[in-house]
Amino acid sequence: MQEDTNFFTANYDSIIDKINAIHPEKYSKTRNFLNGEVTYLSPYISRGVLSTKQVMEMVLNNGFTFFQSEKLIQELAWREYYQRVWQFKKEQIWDDLKQVQPAVDHYEMLASLLNCTTGIKVIDEHIQRLYQTGYIHNHIRMYLASITCNIGKAHWKIPAKWMYYHLLDGDIASNNCSWQWVGGSFSSKKYYCNQDNINKYTHSHQTGTFLDASYEQITALKVPDTLSVSTSLKLHTILPDTKLPILDLSKPTLLYNSYNLDPNWRAKENVNKVLILEPSHFNENPVSEKVLYFILELSKNIPGIQVFVGEIAAIVKLYNENHIETTEVIISKEHPAFEYYPGIKDQRDWLFPSVSGYHSSFFNFWKKCVQSIQ
Ligand SMILES: Cc1cc2nc3c(=O)[nH]c(=O)nc-3n(C[C@H](O)[C@H](O)[C@H](O)COP(=O)(O)OP(=O)(O)OC[C@H]3O[C@@H](n4cnc5c(N)ncnc54)[C@H](O)[C@@H]3O)c2cc1C
Repeated sequence: MQEDTNFFTANYDSIIDKINAIHPEKYSKTRNFLNGEVTYLSPYISRGVLSTKQVMEMVLNNGFTFFQSEKLIQELAWREYYQRVWQFKKEQIWDDLKQVQPAVDHYEMLASLLNCTTGIKVIDEHIQRLYQTGYIHNHIRMYLASITCNIGKAHWKIPAKWMYYHLLDGDIASNNCSWQWVGGSFSSKKYYCNQDNINKYTHSHQTGTFLDASYEQITALKVPDTLSVSTSLKLHTILPDTKLPILDLSKPTLLYNSYNLDPNWRAKENVNKVLILEPSHFNENPVSEKVLYFILELSKNIPGIQVFVGEIAAIVKLYNENHIETTEVIISKEHPAFEYYPGIKDQRDWLFPSVSGYHSSFFNFWKKCVQSIQ
């Protein structure tokens, strides 16, 4: 295992080194294994430090062909797919998207997940690691969501909030849609795993667990004792105290936030730069102290940025008190979480800018992505 508590550097040059280290063919062959060559880029893509387009272009510029890189590009496209779903569905991203999640017993969190006591060793170890590092491998996320929703029969929403709270790469679209994909409310059937599958991809050898059974037996399993206790969840973000930013009101203000920390965005312009952390956003979507620290560290790649904890209305007021309309002077990047910002919204750097709107399945979306580049 590569990632330790300091693995996710916030230094921009070191982040770029991570892209240069990608070998897309090795990635494609090994990504499903716990020790596979995954990129660990999601915390930077989610937080808007890197764009999916930038990653693809750098990999291709490093001499790999589209064909060699196709699996990686397809994974990057999953992120865009979910972002497009969010753009279209807006607040409904919090509802069961295609159908009601089948076989739900409750809307709480499983105590054994919170406490790393499911009895599936590798899962318990990796929840512990999630708490320590803010990262968890995709396959373990799938196992964990399947154990929660399909064996433990919890509705996806509260466990998804728990995971989002701890993830450095927390992305409401990827998170909610992936939980729903596993739980069967954004897919045609639930995703199940058994102990054999877990052992194969994690190189472990555990036997005798509630998952040590055939798929046929597992789909018919009653909730095991270890998953039978559920609990409510209280999550909140402790934001720092800051003053109002000091703005030169003769200049526009670039707004950065927890999903836009791009140091190259309008980098040469003579502007104010504010990282705005709105209490209203974090009350709805709490993140851990570790995640907040990561966001603040990433913002240090942006010269001259001021951190402001407060609502957007306070920035608007600063301009309005000086009789300046905000339509031209407040500039942000388009993002479904912050549609309410006033002013100019720059487009994000999409991999497939012409493939927008809602697609009912990733593979319909991907087909159009491939057509768009042919
Ligand atoms: C239950 C569950 C919850 C998830 N929650 C999140 C989340 O909050 N934030 C998040 O970024 N990802 C989420 N994912 C998707 C995926 O697990 C992570 O993006 C991936 O593990 C990140 O590690 P990596 O950068 O090493 O991935 P790599 O395998 O190296 O992939 C390269 C890039 O492709 C994108 N990507 C890969 N797989 C997916 C995927 N399944 N969906 C969307 N994008 C993908 C990411 O941008 C990633 O950085 C979730 C998956 C599941 C099953």
